[in-house]
Order: sequence, then C-alpha cells, then structure tokens
Amino acid sequence: MNRIYLDHTATTPLDPRVFEAMLPYFTETFGNASSVHWYGQQAKGALERSRETIAQAIGVQVGEIFFTSGGTEADNQAIVGVGRAMRKGGKNHAITSQAEHHAVLGPCEELEKEGFEVTYLPVDRFGMITAAQVSEALRPTTGLVSIMHANNEVGTISPIKEIARMAHERGASVHTDAVQSLGKIPLDVENLGVDLMSLSAHKIYGPKGIGALVVKKGVGMEPLLHGGGQERGKRPGTENVPLAVGFARAVEITVGEMKDESARLEGLRDQLEEGIRTEFSAALINGHPTDRLPHILNVSFESSRMPLEGEMLVMNMDFQGIAVTSGSACTSGSMQPSHVLIAMGRDEKTAKATLRFSFGKSNSKRDVPYVIESLKAVLRQMTR
Ligand code: PLP
Repeated sequence: MNRIYLDHTATTPLDPRVFEAMLPYFTETFGNASSVHWYGQQAKGALERSRETIAQAIGVQVGEIFFTSGGTEADNQAIVGVGRAMRKGGKNHAITSQAEHHAVLGPCEELEKEGFEVTYLPVDRFGMITAAQVSEALRPTTGLVSIMHANNEVGTISPIKEIARMAHERGASVHTDAVQSLGKIPLDVENLGVDLMSLSAHKIYGPKGIGALVVKKGVGMEPLLHGGGQERGKRPGTENVPLAVGFARAVEITVGEMKDESARLEGLRDQLEEGIRTEFSAALINGHPTDRLPHILNVSFESSRMPLEGEMLVMNMDFQGIAVTSGSACTSGSMQPSHVLIAMGRDEKTAKATLRFSFGKSNSKRDVPYVIESLKAVLRQMTR
C-alpha cells in the first residue's frame, strides 16, 4: 500500500545523519559527563560542543542552554520553576493563552493549585493573540507571561517580540514554547527578547526524549528536580550525551537546510490547500492566512453541511495509507474537540470534524493528488 506520513507536527523520523552522529556516544564514548577522568571528559566535551551548536543556532550564550527530556519538561520547568521563584519576590500572577499546548496549560493549572492566579487570554478566530491583550492583562503582581511562538495545531505565529517588550516594561519575565518553530522559521532569542524558550529534538528529525530550555542570565527559576549539580543545578541527573549530540546534529542540519526546505513545504501545503478549497465547499481552513508555519494545514468541515467525527476521519484516512491527525496527538483518542479550535470560536461539531496535515522531508508533490483523491473517497463514504 502507498503510505504517506503527514503528521510531522506529532513527530519526525530520525535523520540518518543524526543517527550516525549519535552512535559512538552509546558505545565508545560512554563516560559519565560529570566524571573527572578521561572517559568523563570525552563525554563532557561532546555535551558542551552540542550545547554550543544549539546556542549558536538560536543566538544565545552557551551557558543559557539547559538540556531537558523534551519540550514538555522544558515548559513545566519554565512555568513552575519561574512561578515558584517569582513568589519569593511577591509576584503571584501569570499570563498565558487558551490556545497553548497542554505542556504549558498543565503546569499553569499546577501553579493555580499552589495559589497563583493565571489569566488564560482568548485568541481571535485565527488563533492569534495580540500584544495589546497581554498589556491589558498585566498587573503589578504579574511575574510571568508564557505565550507560544507558533501553534502546533493551526500553525499561527504569535507576535512574541511585541509581547516581550510590553511584559518587560511591566517587570514580567517572558517564556515562549518554540517547539514547532525550530527548524521551520528563524528563531533569534536576542531579537525576540524572551527570557525563556522551550525546544524539542524529535520535531526536527532528532531523537525523542531530549529538548532544551533556554534561560537567559539573571532569570530567577527554581529547579523542579533535586539531586546532583548537573546542568548547573537547574536540571540534575546524569547527562544524556548521545541524545544531546543527536539534538545538536539535528539542529545543525534542519536550521542549515531551513530556507529551502521551508519554502518547499510551504509549496506542498499551498498545493493541498488549493485542492481542498476547490474540491470541498464545506472546508474551512484554520489558522492565520499569512502568519503561520509553512508545513501545517488544518482543515475543518462545516458541521451543518458535513457532519463528521474527527477520529473516524483519521481512521478512514489511515485505511487509505495516509497518516494525519484530528488535533494535537496528545489529545487524540480522548474524543474531545480541540481546545485550540474551540478557543478560535469553532463550534464543537465543526471542531471535531477536523484534519491536521503536516508536511515534512518525506513528502513530495506527487503525494498531494493522492491525498485529495483519498479524502474525496473517505468523505463520500462517510457522508453517504
Ligand atoms: N509544545 C508544543 C508546541 C508541542 O507541539 C509539543 C509536542 O507535541 C510539546 C510542547 C511537547 O514536546 P515533547 O514531545 O518533546 O515533550
């Protein structure tokens, strides 16, 4: 069967070049990066070179990168860690948006349980939040603003630079989840002016189980884990050198190839969008028309005209050999409509009748007509 993977927002396959770079660090260079002997120092050298590669790619100091087990841990560490630290300075309010990933919403709810107040800002119909909204929500007690760099479901890119400027004027730190932006659009931490940024390797053809939190110098943050002094005490635990090496190699490759590859993915995305608009009059494209990631196409089918169940849509597309999702992978199976689409104002039934296509390296122009034909067949069958 012809199989097409269109779920690169959920995860990507490991690039063989990344795999090759990682291999020696599982076997030959196996030392504990905290050991003082030769074995340890070899591992430490690789770890620090990896940190340097990632730091350079996003414009931060090498000492501002802290390795984590992925994007989820980076988000938790940023939000709960900064929250607990800011309370010591008398601040107990945080601001985020209703369209954030659960890796941000979860720790925000955790802060609420600890007595913090959290404002969940609504987004507009494109999934966009404005700096003016953030400005209005800022209070003298606001210590943290966490707004995602780009949305993982609809691809909408937030005006983070303006948000950071507003928040800083009022003395709040700014965190952004850039898990989906890395390797797709330029990321320059200095230019954005954020204090913390979450990253993950497995969205950019790197290994699963590693990510990083950027923490600018001077930002107060309590560690969530307690143990040894690794990662300068902010993230104790024996360093995962092979995964760090893989993450750095993945950053090097994807950021290096980004300009051409993102343009190519955008072309595929636009080709599919045009096909869907032409073939299905009930299709509604979700996300900002221009300020969005190049590789994501999120489509809902108007419920009044095409009553569909997202999970069934996904399963039927899978029977055709096409891997897509109906929302974020983390919530699929729960049969809940996407909280992002609901925040954008879609009704529950339309939000459920949604497919997210996300393109990547394995896709080519040839895939698009097959996807459209398959979708036609699936919708014909489901609405019969
Ligand atoms: N943040 C966003 C925007 C994501 O899309 C994801 C993954 O889906 C995460 C965080 C979680 O990252 P990880 O899978 O590395 O824990």
